[in-house]
Amino acid sequence: MFDFIMTEEQKMLEEEVRDLVGWVPRQLILDMDAMIAPFPKMFLEECGRRNLLGLRFPEEYGGRGMKWEDEIVAISEMSLLGVPLTCLYSLVSIVGDCIVQFGTEDHKQRFLVPTLKGELVCAEALTEPRGGSDFFGATCTARLEGDHYVLNGQKRFIVGAEGADYFMVYARTDLEAPPREGLSCFLVERDENIEVKTVYGLMGARGSGTGRVLFRDTKVPVENLVGKENEGSRIFYRMMVPERMTSASGCVGGGREALEMAARYTTRRKAFGVEIKNFQAVNFMIADSLIKLDAMRSLLYMTARAIDEGVPHGRMRRMVSESKKFCTEAVWDIANNAMQAMGGIAYTNVYPIERFLRDCRLLSIWTGTNEVMSLIIQHEFYKELQAEIRGKRDVELDAPEAFNEEEKIYE
Ligand SMILES: Cc1cc2nc3c(=O)[nH]c(=O)nc-3n(C[C@H](O)[C@H](O)[C@H](O)COP(=O)(O)OP(=O)(O)OC[C@H]3O[C@@H](n4cnc5c(N)ncnc54)[C@H](O)[C@@H]3O)c2cc1C
Repeated sequence: MFDFIMTEEQKMLEEEVRDLVGWVPRQLILDMDAMIAPFPKMFLEECGRRNLLGLRFPEEYGGRGMKWEDEIVAISEMSLLGVPLTCLYSLVSIVGDCIVQFGTEDHKQRFLVPTLKGELVCAEALTEPRGGSDFFGATCTARLEGDHYVLNGQKRFIVGAEGADYFMVYARTDLEAPPREGLSCFLVERDENIEVKTVYGLMGARGSGTGRVLFRDTKVPVENLVGKENEGSRIFYRMMVPERMTSASGCVGGGREALEMAARYTTRRKAFGVEIKNFQAVNFMIADSLIKLDAMRSLLYMTARAIDEGVPHGRMRRMVSESKKFCTEAVWDIANNAMQAMGGIAYTNVYPIERFLRDCRLLSIWTGTNEVMSLIIQHEFYKELQAEIRGKRDVELDAPEAFNEEEKIYE
């Protein structure tokens, strides 16, 4: 983040995260990418030991009562570790948010407290094989039978599935109701009626236990329902804030490192007898990346402030979606520029740029594709435009022919 806007507390938090980032063994990152590491629970345990999980949540449950402005600092710095570990870290913020905002005291004690200590691993299971963007088309069902629901169906691409002790799951509880009115949210504890298959050969973001989760007559006690039955969509809309804010913040630190690595390289590498940073074609790539990095940080910071200040929901939704789309596309450009500026060596595993590039490709697909972000952004903006209070200067009239009604044809 920008040091000149950070409070002393945020600077200390950044230092704490930096220390944790330094603690993570290099071999873990390599083994995760090679898909030979066991599920990295020890990382979450260490985060928990250092009280770095769920920073925004109340202290009484093990959080630090911080704000989004603080959490984006932590996640940005965490993202030096790459997408998979940053994602596992962020999942606590996402699932935890659901529990804090919609859960009962029992959920907080049984799930949130041990999760923040790093003792329980959570995962978020939204996406189904038949569609991710079409979330409300979910076909997983939860049938009420006495004191429990019976869950059937499957979810796919679930990060952390391999190591998860429990899943936050949306399932259809009213098959007759319109899609948005028949979904409920559950905290589903892992048991023998849940099968996790880690079947994917991922291009990047490897090693975080991404899998397919199958529920076969899985019994979920009624007390594990989050919020009210059939009101899952309320929770879903709210959860899109932590989902997308964590995705966006997770672009900053990694992007900064890729940019700096490439810039340093261009000061050492020579071609035609001069350091390649002297070629405008090269140093303009660095300039473009820097602009994107700073723009990312600015938008993210402004969005975090907006959430913390409690802007109206529609405005928040637009800004969060803008941040997610902009940051995830900017970091891809930064990674791509870094590879281009470094030439062939960056395409090899001598530098981590190739891994970073593979990881980054995912960011504009998950937590809502960037096309879905555009849908939300324009939708919320048109709503704002309609609601706009007139009375300010009508700039449309500041044209010589502004009153030429004959030319103002709209249909
Ligand atoms: C490695 C990985 C990890 C993931 N982790 C998780 C996780 O932990 N939990 C979880 O629940 N999910 C997870 N996901 C799922 C991810 O969120 C979805 O892949 C994503 O939402 C897109 O859904 P889809 O893959 O079904 O694509 P589809 O929804 O089939 O979309 C395909 C294309 O159609 C476009 N499209 C669809 N609808 C529209 C529309 N209305 N307007 C314009 N364009 C549209 C999309 O933008 C996209 O380009 C993960 C995915 C991957 C690959």
